[in-house]
Amino acid sequence: MRTVDLLVIGGGSAGMAAAIQAKKEGINDILIVERDENLGGILNQCIHNGFGLTEFKEELSGPEYLARFVSQVEELKIPYMTSSMVIDMTREKIVTISSKKEGVFKIKAKAIVMATGCYERGAGAIQIPGDRCSGIITAGTAQKYLNIHGYLCGKRVVILGSGDIGLIMARRLTLEGAKVICVSEIMPYSNGLNRNIAQCLNDYNIPLYLSRSVSKVIGKDRLEKVILSAVDEKMQFIPGTEMEIECDTLILSVGLIPYISLLDYIDCPTSSTKGAKVNEHMETMIEGIFSAGNCLHVHDVVDFVTDEGRLAGHGAAEYLKGEFKRGEKIVVTPKDGISYVVPQEINKDNEEDVTFKFRVRKPVKDVNLIIESNGELVAKMFKPVLIPSEMVMVKLSKDKLANVDKEVSLRLEER
Ligand SMILES: Cc1cc2nc3c(=O)[nH]c(=O)nc-3n(C[C@H](O)[C@H](O)[C@H](O)COP(=O)(O)OP(=O)(O)OC[C@H]3O[C@@H](n4cnc5c(N)ncnc54)[C@H](O)[C@@H]3O)c2cc1C
Repeated sequence: MRTVDLLVIGGGSAGMAAAIQAKKEGINDILIVERDENLGGILNQCIHNGFGLTEFKEELSGPEYLARFVSQVEELKIPYMTSSMVIDMTREKIVTISSKKEGVFKIKAKAIVMATGCYERGAGAIQIPGDRCSGIITAGTAQKYLNIHGYLCGKRVVILGSGDIGLIMARRLTLEGAKVICVSEIMPYSNGLNRNIAQCLNDYNIPLYLSRSVSKVIGKDRLEKVILSAVDEKMQFIPGTEMEIECDTLILSVGLIPYISLLDYIDCPTSSTKGAKVNEHMETMIEGIFSAGNCLHVHDVVDFVTDEGRLAGHGAAEYLKGEFKRGEKIVVTPKDGISYVVPQEINKDNEEDVTFKFRVRKPVKDVNLIIESNGELVAKMFKPVLIPSEMVMVKLSKDKLANVDKEVSLRLEER
């Protein structure tokens, strides 16, 4: 059987960053396996700009951002296989690959970085009432059709969900000549970045309806109309609030979910992010298997995906070199107002600062972020505004970590 020191599954931003970091730290036997024809992942279809503000202090398009990492992979001579999909995996790190060029074969790795990205929630997941007609499509698929294959998915479009992909598609479809009638959002606030609301909706006079969702789709073969209704605090439709909109396309931008089916094969524990549970090295609860990027938790900004990929690559390199410090485990828990925290565990003997990444449950203003261990305050930080669509990062220095024992929690406190 073929062997490799480090196998990276997925050649998107997270996977490339992990491989590059591991190579820079002296790991020479690496293989990136990517199921698409090219490296780069979702960024290949993101032709809008807004990438790389932190990483390069420049505003790049998706393809420009990914090209900088593909050239590093090439310069460092990191082997990669495209049109090759990992279809099975064991706890012993034996993976089965189905490759267009080489057929189906197995490879045994000493360490693995999982960087398989995420998938979109579709119509089935949100159970829209009404006819089962064509013309209902997810935002990422509509983006791929348009930006990669050159097909416009419709002419009169309603977008459901105000996440970033939905907002970006509202602008993109408008620029290509479609009429985007509105964006409808079930929550009382948008789930997209503020800059995308300004640049993708306000600049094109596209209305955003909050607390409103699709109560019915109508169409014999192709979509003809959608009914939008207001919802109450319990997300129930309010009778008498129906708006009938004639359209031929309904675009769904209703959430992304980490793509971790391979980890299911090995019973890898998961967290509330729906990705794997990890420690501060981005190592899952299975030794030597690491995870980073959107398959760990869905990110809004690619620069942070790149950073997380590097962290996983660093962790994998230390693991392979036998330099990994494992001590008593500290459990990290999200409490009041916080929906999740990554990592979920820290090794007590860790000698590096730890960055906690988290999201809040709802928009809040003027709050304190409290980090405590066994009821004792470890750190307190003022946060003027926190919104669910923006991932928050806070660094806890190793000196502060020395005061933490067995458990640490993060919560919000009103001032
Ligand atoms: C539509 C959209 C717009 C965005 N806009 C912005 C923006 O304006 N600015 C910004 O900073 N960020 C933006 N982001 C966020 C950012 O681009 C992504 O979070 C980031 O690129 C994700 O990187 P990743 O490596 O985790 O996942 P991906 O890029 O999805 O890469 C995962 C890779 O794994 C491969 N793969 C999956 N399973 C397997 C398998 N079994 N075997 C082999 N390969 C596999 C996939 O083919 C894919 O190439 C946007 C994201 C999306 C979806």
